[in-house]
Amino acid sequence: MSDPALLEVRDLAKHFPIHGGLLQRQVGAVKAVDGVSFSIRRGETLGLVGESGCGKSTIGKTVLKLIEPTAGRILLSGEDVTELPPAAMWAHRRHIQTIFQDPYSSMNPRLSAGTIVGEPLENYGVTRGRRTADKVASLFTRVGLRPDAMRKYAHEFSGGQRQRLGIAKALSVNPDLIVADEPVSALDVSVQAQVLNLLIDLQEEYGLAYLFISHDLAVMRHISHRIAVMYLGRIVELADKRMLFNTPKHPYTEALLSAATAPDPKRRRQRKRIVQGDVPSPAKPPPGCHFHTRCPYAVAECKVTAPPLREVAPGHHVACLLR
Ligand code: SF4
Repeated sequence: MSDPALLEVRDLAKHFPIHGGLLQRQVGAVKAVDGVSFSIRRGETLGLVGESGCGKSTIGKTVLKLIEPTAGRILLSGEDVTELPPAAMWAHRRHIQTIFQDPYSSMNPRLSAGTIVGEPLENYGVTRGRRTADKVASLFTRVGLRPDAMRKYAHEFSGGQRQRLGIAKALSVNPDLIVADEPVSALDVSVQAQVLNLLIDLQEEYGLAYLFISHDLAVMRHISHRIAVMYLGRIVELADKRMLFNTPKHPYTEALLSAATAPDPKRRRQRKRIVQGDVPSPAKPPPGCHFHTRCPYAVAECKVTAPPLREVAPGHHVACLLR
């Protein structure tokens, strides 16, 4: 990886306290994110994949500075943004935008679609008045919406159109990075592909980087350059997507792939389902390797030693004592 990182996340942790007893004292903590490091280059898509509750959305919120980390650093273009003062925060937010699973929830139902997309432009002083309207019209066209839809309200759009509206809003202030949290999981499969292809086209055109969060490996395969697999607050495997799909090295990744809807049915049949049981609670993760309670290869050492994320082949990182 020769290009300097656009986003660098170092040893990030986010623990949510658990309170109990008569005095509601802290009796524990949910370790939603527990020592996670990764980087994203300009123009790159890093996919974060894992089951519900693995901490991937918490990472997204922490990178967006919607919640404060318990520990670790976040650097954007080399600048440490972990503890930015509120005044600097506003300017920082322009560089990192987000696309939600449900864009409707973040849109004011009383504002026209044109106003929703134009608001960030005016707020950041990118354009004013007539120029804002022109810019919004061109953004609408770019994301596949008719410019006359600017007069409509969010509830008048379909799910896919609303997601295009959300993309236009995110794009309006020329961000460097977009955090996309399950942006297509509420859409029909055919609409999913259209939105993913739009995101890929926009990435090429604007040099955007994406932190793309999803539980869906088929979606990840479509959009990601590299993929980080998460399990109970930790990254267990991080690799180029071809390496990850062709030669998965972590038993949990193997399990995820075996359960996923692979496009090639022959290969799907070859993959044996290996994982058993439910994900343990992040409030009480198993000691050592968090995956040892479900891993078919676990040995005694796995119950006491947490495997570090090691580079086992160029660009291929795995956290497993046996790989
Ligand atoms: Fe399985 Fe042990 Fe590797 Fe964890 S460290 S994935 S329990 S073999």
